[in-house]
Amino acid sequence: MPTDPALPRLTIAGTTVSVVGRARIYVCGVTPYDVTHLGHAATFVWVDAADRVLRRLGVHVEVCRNVTDVDDVLFDAAARAGAPYDRFAAVQQYHFDHDMDLLGVRRPAHEPRAHTYIGPVVELARALLDSGHAYTAAGSVFLRGEPVATAAGLDRPAALELLASNGGRVDDPAKHDPLDQAVWQASTEDDPAWPSPWGPGRPGWHAECTAMALSTYGPGLDLHAGGADLRFPHHAFEAAQAEAATGVSPFARAWMHVGTVQLDGEKMAKSLGNLVFVSDLLAQVPGPVVRTLLLDRRYGQSWDHTPALLDAAGARLEALHGAAGRPHTDPVAQAAVLAALADDLDVPRALDLAIAEGGQAARDLAAVLAL
Ligand SMILES: [Zn+2]
Repeated sequence: MPTDPALPRLTIAGTTVSVVGRARIYVCGVTPYDVTHLGHAATFVWVDAADRVLRRLGVHVEVCRNVTDVDDVLFDAAARAGAPYDRFAAVQQYHFDHDMDLLGVRRPAHEPRAHTYIGPVVELARALLDSGHAYTAAGSVFLRGEPVATAAGLDRPAALELLASNGGRVDDPAKHDPLDQAVWQASTEDDPAWPSPWGPGRPGWHAECTAMALSTYGPGLDLHAGGADLRFPHHAFEAAQAEAATGVSPFARAWMHVGTVQLDGEKMAKSLGNLVFVSDLLAQVPGPVVRTLLLDRRYGQSWDHTPALLDAAGARLEALHGAAGRPHTDPVAQAAVLAALADDLDVPRALDLAIAEGGQAARDLAAVLAL
């Protein structure tokens, strides 16, 4: 479909997402081991907003949202529940899909599952060994991490701290350098394992996303999204591996990092026991109220959730719907609302304009953002 030259183009974090053909969006999905919390939902609702705004601007969009079903935390949770990891993941995935449906998140065009991409990870590891970016040790394949940390602008202590708090196994004695990260991880006896040229093992977390993104789209993406806490090590290693293996740089033309949702100043985390579950909120209010809560802010901003914010989101949505009921049609106001959305997804400005102007401008915004 030809795009209308009168429509603006989407800009994300200073990069114009100019698209020839389809827009290729990749977002790091869930590790299906627990119930969806507000922090997860924020990322996927924001990707859905980017998807819907691009579509409104006439772009053909494909979203790829992976399922990280090969992961230590998932294996541990499945073992505690006494279930095979793949069956345990499938049940969690069902609940996740249900929450996303109620939130009005469009189903992605591609939903690759890590456990079916073992072959591409092995090929990725071989390519990284061939190019000298990786080495083998004790049945694992490690990517050299120092250049990745440097490219991310992190000094050694900062990089090590982030790796240590993100499952980066900095104390693995097989590594030449604690910064190195497994592309292929030799499995211990109890873990699920697959055969490889280096012995039984499983993909490294970052390598899974690299393999799934490259398998789905080829060597480049238009927009890569994920939680801000994935910036390093996950996204940095994912991109470094892709660029080293394909020779195509940048791996992602634009990055959308969604801010962290906090409770009383602390990031929501299972380990802290401070999770706000999406299903609990959806039992209180309709999906569009939760969407408004998540979207009526800048996507990169971290924020503190409080029950009062849910009430405020409900009032804001009511104001939008009230404004949409006015018969007024002003093409200039409608264009201004669309321009705000195209400008780094500035939903608060778009909502302010739509509520003030009303009529078609408000109806258009409600339709674009599924509010
Ligand atoms: Zn990822």
